Amino acid sequence: NQQVHKALNAFVCPRDEGALVQEHTWNLRDADKRRDGGTAKSAIDGYLIAVKDNICTSEEPTTCASAILKGFHSPYPATVVEKLKQAGALIAGKSNLDEFGMGSDSTNSIYGAVENVYTQDGDSLSAGGSSGGSAVAVATGQCDAALGTDTGGSVRLPAAYTGITGFKPSYGMVSRWGVVAYANSLDTVGILAKNSSMARSVFDTIEGFDSRDPTSIPVSTRLRIAQRLLERKAKLGWGDRPSLRIGVPLEYNTAELQPEVRRAWLDTLQGLRDQGHTIHMLSLAATKMALAAYYVIAPAEASSNLAKYDGVRYGNKASDMVRADSVLFASTRGSGLGDEVKRRILLGSYSLSAAAIDNYFKKAQKARRLVQMDFNKAFALSHPLLKRQDESGNEPKVDVIVTPTALSLPPKLNTLKNRAPTSSYSADSLTVPASLAGIPALSIPVPISRKDGGHQNAPTSVGIQIIAQYGDEEMVFSLAQSIE
Ligand code: GLN
Repeated sequence: NQQVHKALNAFVCPRDEGALVQEHTWNLRDADKRRDGGTAKSAIDGYLIAVKDNICTSEEPTTCASAILKGFHSPYPATVVEKLKQAGALIAGKSNLDEFGMGSDSTNSIYGAVENVYTQDGDSLSAGGSSGGSAVAVATGQCDAALGTDTGGSVRLPAAYTGITGFKPSYGMVSRWGVVAYANSLDTVGILAKNSSMARSVFDTIEGFDSRDPTSIPVSTRLRIAQRLLERKAKLGWGDRPSLRIGVPLEYNTAELQPEVRRAWLDTLQGLRDQGHTIHMLSLAATKMALAAYYVIAPAEASSNLAKYDGVRYGNKASDMVRADSVLFASTRGSGLGDEVKRRILLGSYSLSAAAIDNYFKKAQKARRLVQMDFNKAFALSHPLLKRQDESGNEPKVDVIVTPTALSLPPKLNTLKNRAPTSSYSADSLTVPASLAGIPALSIPVPISRKDGGHQNAPTSVGIQIIAQYGDEEMVFSLAQSIE
């Protein structure tokens, strides 16, 4: 068993298995004692949790799967890691990822590709990216839950591909202090877990205001959000399983959607209707622009964030250079950064340049605003941070939106090498809209029915995505529970 897990490459610099098992056994025993005595530290007291290697821990190095940060020890842990420890959890180790979170298959790593728990015709499958290591660590039972980061889908896509639950909170709900920035207006810390109630327990532990993160939502806004949710609860009669209005955006039913995925989506909607909810078709017209806007904005922010890895301020210097000039910078960055990261830096630097900013970056920001407004108009609950838009002649308002998470089942790893690097970007087309809007989204596994009964060890589920209004994580979790 251990052999299989090692081969899947979920962890970077794995901890000594024996020592970890022993420490976990003790931690669990102590937690059980506290639980029996009514003094449990939290709902996750005693849990074993993996942490994506772009989130700083103090014991282990934090490398972002990049040569430029190989051996880097952060002088402080991320707020989320501190919170997990205070809650009684034990860190299982650092999980593998796409370099700096850039990728959709967890193949862009100096430690090599993560492999999915599933295979197809004996071939390895993509674990999804960029939090593929965290997803596989959970799917193989090497931990109870894992932290990932989700900038454009990096928690939800791996969850969908590996048959587990992946949750991206509203932007600003969870501290990013100590999380290595990729595209900071989109970055969130997300959670991978076997089911939504486990994900919720971890979320309850790590969320909260943090004065060290300037984009952290202040306490007053959190209270205002909580108050609104209480009012909504009273209106809907939450306790007696209210009938919810479920939105189905037409734009997500694209031609590229694999039949198995469409089938599972329809089955889910049928199941929800049987539970007494109502289904409403709606249009989120700006969805078409979301992927292009994301792949302009994310690289632009990345090009700025990654400028500090120059061998002087941060990162490993190229060979033994002693000079501090453009030659040092160029050779450090040339040898220390991977191809995909370089591609993003070039793209980003170009779209921010004087010649291109109007046609690319500014247009993308406008498209982002339209995506955000589309969602905002669709939800019955108002956005706690935005003004209400003009309501005239609108679509039916909904409580929650249900879509697929990914267009397809996981691709074979050996087919990725022959594809254009940009073709993997389309794997994110159903997850980036919620990222651009900063709203909560969760992927849960829904079983697929195959005519052929499925191949041995082939994927048995697809991811279904649940999206709600900003701050309405409660809706996301409770609908997930009724689908599970
Ligand atoms: N695949 C997307 C990208 O490469 C999303 C990554 C992420 O969410 N970190 O940008």
